[in-house]
Amino acid sequence: MLEIVSLTLGPAQTNAYLVADPQSGEAVVIDPAWDGDRILAAAQEHGWRIAHLWYTHAHFDHIGGAGAIADALNPLPLVALHPADHTLWRAEGGAPLFGLRIDPGPEPTIDLVHGMRMQLGQVQFEVRHTPGHTPGHCSFYVAQDSLLFCGDLIFQGSVGRTDLPGGSWEQLVNSIRTQAFSLPDETRLLSGHGPETTVGEQKRSNPFVAE
Ligand SMILES: [Zn+2]
Ligand SMILES: [Zn+2]
Repeated sequence: MLEIVSLTLGPAQTNAYLVADPQSGEAVVIDPAWDGDRILAAAQEHGWRIAHLWYTHAHFDHIGGAGAIADALNPLPLVALHPADHTLWRAEGGAPLFGLRIDPGPEPTIDLVHGMRMQLGQVQFEVRHTPGHTPGHCSFYVAQDSLLFCGDLIFQGSVGRTDLPGGSWEQLVNSIRTQAFSLPDETRLLSGHGPETTVGEQKRSNPFVAE
């Protein structure tokens, strides 16, 4: 079973998930949102080694802590991002549109592909391409723990905005229906913003996409 520390960080109150395989002590940061030093400190506290940075998407508020994390680590963490978000990554995740600058950290070298498996110690994560909020948005499904790290796909009582460059409402709804609502009701949804929820709860009560 994975161990998960969630930290809510930065100007958009984004959830960064520090996820470890306790057996190996190897950790991944899913969306190193902001304040990389705080994420590093949490890893040190638990005795975990951050080996990977995986991005649900390249918006600045989800990658703003990557530079500080990478600066402190040797070897560098491996960075994974869907290629359809590389342009956004090179544009600092859109930070300049909001009057901000970030250090985006090391260039992503692992291209996420729908259906690929990512490995953290003994635990497998399934990559699900879930475009709509951004073209390259992905979610990470851990079947053995009934967890979906879903970024800005869906939130408790809300969904990801689609009015930013590359957004598509039709794609977002389709991604939610086919990639999140197809999972068992008890699947925990760990979103990019706000509290944890479940597939069943959102199917029943989400005002945008309830069934
Ligand atoms: Zn976003
Ligand atoms: Zn976000």
